Amino acid sequence: MSAKIFKTPQQWREQLTVEQYRITREAGTERPFSGEHYFHNRLGRYHCICCNALLFESTTKFDAGCGWPSFWEEAVPGSIVRIRDSSHGMIRTEVRCAQCDAHLGHVFDDGPPPTGERYCINSVALHFVPQDS
Ligand SMILES: [Zn+2]
Repeated sequence: MSAKIFKTPQQWREQLTVEQYRITREAGTERPFSGEHYFHNRLGRYHCICCNALLFESTTKFDAGCGWPSFWEEAVPGSIVRIRDSSHGMIRTEVRCAQCDAHLGHVFDDGPPPTGERYCINSVALHFVPQDS
């Protein structure tokens, strides 16, 4: 695990698009079925859009029918932190990039085997690197 990354809001704004900033730094949510990573199933790896940390492998991606890319396991243990989220009148578990604190989405306990978990992640928070590149 590499060192934590800290940047000011201004520095993040210069690096990210408006939508990327809204999702990752202000805990926003993209519209379901709108994200670029939802429909494709190419082999590769998904990295944090903010700091490039490896977060998910395509081999753990599955279609949960929810409109956001879903994964049943993080790529590297400890690469994602979990935070209790009681916003919007719900008790959920928010997931963030451990390295830069970017908001990624939420994790639920109704996923497939072997973990039974479902990471529901905003496409905007992810940078996809195809295996054949
Ligand atoms: Zn990150």
